[in-house]
Amino acid sequence: MASAGDKTYIVEHLDEELGPWSELEYIAIAQESHDTGAKFCLSSLAPAFKVPDALRAVPSFTPEPRSVEEIYADNKARVCLLDPAAAKDLSPEDGDTFDVFLFGGILGDDPPRDRTSELRKKGFEGRRLGPVQMTTDTAVRVTRMVVEGKIPVAEVPYLDFPEIRFNEHECTEMPFRYVKGDDGKPIMPKGMVELIGKDADKAIDDLF
Ligand code: SAH
Repeated sequence: MASAGDKTYIVEHLDEELGPWSELEYIAIAQESHDTGAKFCLSSLAPAFKVPDALRAVPSFTPEPRSVEEIYADNKARVCLLDPAAAKDLSPEDGDTFDVFLFGGILGDDPPRDRTSELRKKGFEGRRLGPVQMTTDTAVRVTRMVVEGKIPVAEVPYLDFPEIRFNEHECTEMPFRYVKGDDGKPIMPKGMVELIGKDADKAIDDLF
């Protein structure tokens, strides 16, 4: 039977550049993969792509210039695409069927533009993680809980559209689903709340 340690999480990087949000998300995915003995691969990296030092430093992480289609050309059936438009939800048993889990490396957008379709077209088997859009690191976290932790997708504790408060006067609502941490707060990559606060300050400055 498949165990936690033989899972690979692949994020196919579909954006041109690496924005600061994606960078924090990828570092969180790499660290959490390392913690359970799984591997994390960022695929389809252009030659000019600069891997951040904090990401390169995580031993479970591999940067990969090839696309996921090239890497798994001969064993596509091992790969499960996490797809918000898939007909079936991911189940703990899928952890025995698949050992590679594929995600779109795109920032969540509101409303969603279905850019996961770029990966769906390539013919990988798809599974959904419930009906609400998640950030990429949340999608990997939930997949890990289901296929490594054997928790059904409907039993993961979620927080939908949480409000993030930076100070007494300012807060913003995140249009995504997150996993609820032990402290009752949404689990987010280290540094994300500060980054969201900075972006909100910038947006306010731009008004004047
Ligand atoms: N707005 C994007 C989704 C970005 S979320 C779009 O247009 O497709 C980034 C990635 O997280 C997706 O490509 C998918 O692999 C995964 N993901 C997010 N929410 C999901 C859900 N509810 N079910 C399955 N996968 C999901």
